[in-house]
Amino acid sequence: MSQVNKEIVNQIEKEATANRAKWIAVTKNQSPELISELYDMGLRSFGENRVQEMLEKQAILSKDIQWHQIGHLQRNKVKSIAPFVHLIHAVDSIELADEIEKQGKALNRRIKVLIQVHIAAEEEKFGIEAADLHAFIEMLKQRNYQFLEVKGLMGMATFTEDQNQVASEFALLHSCYEAIRNSDNFVAAQIDTLSMGMSGDYKIALQNGANLLRIGSILFK
Ligand SMILES: *Cc1c(COP(=O)(O)O)cnc(C)c1O
Repeated sequence: MSQVNKEIVNQIEKEATANRAKWIAVTKNQSPELISELYDMGLRSFGENRVQEMLEKQAILSKDIQWHQIGHLQRNKVKSIAPFVHLIHAVDSIELADEIEKQGKALNRRIKVLIQVHIAAEEEKFGIEAADLHAFIEMLKQRNYQFLEVKGLMGMATFTEDQNQVASEFALLHSCYEAIRNSDNFVAAQIDTLSMGMSGDYKIALQNGANLLRIGSILFK
């Protein structure tokens, strides 16, 4: 049985705040009871990567929780989370974006998303290649979505001990983020979120401009 590591929770809160960043607690594979403990410490933002698990937890936990869908999302799962999801972190195809727009329209609800950029050396990680990002955003622009709202970018660094490699991957994502924030693109005005940094690399992410961390395993002992 795991427990919440309160010292770590408080430490992350402090480090994030000092860097004007926010963070979400990634609670995949963790029980609703542990989420309630984090909730009682004041946390309101939680991340899950499996839709079914998010739905089960959302149904029984407090309705003021902001649920973040952080993992790869299949199109046929969008409908079930569309009524409540706070932010979808991992949009990586036009087809998925179209489906989010469709479900948002059906509910008359704007749905906030991030575009996942593939910054890691590992091929199995999802996301749009940095080199293709501009073209992808042009495609989104042509769709003229009324319900899907792009808020920024998300990425995962390579799982490696090499801190320089991780730092350079985060720096690349940060430069993509600045580029779209400063462009006169349709999304520029609403872009305010750069989601990067997990338990093993969040300090490097903060040094490289992250403003939303996704922290899981180190919160539990
Ligand atoms: C699991 C997960 C995290 C959190 O990872 P930890 O190493 O447990 O902090 C962050 N982002 C995504 C997309 C994840 O799947």
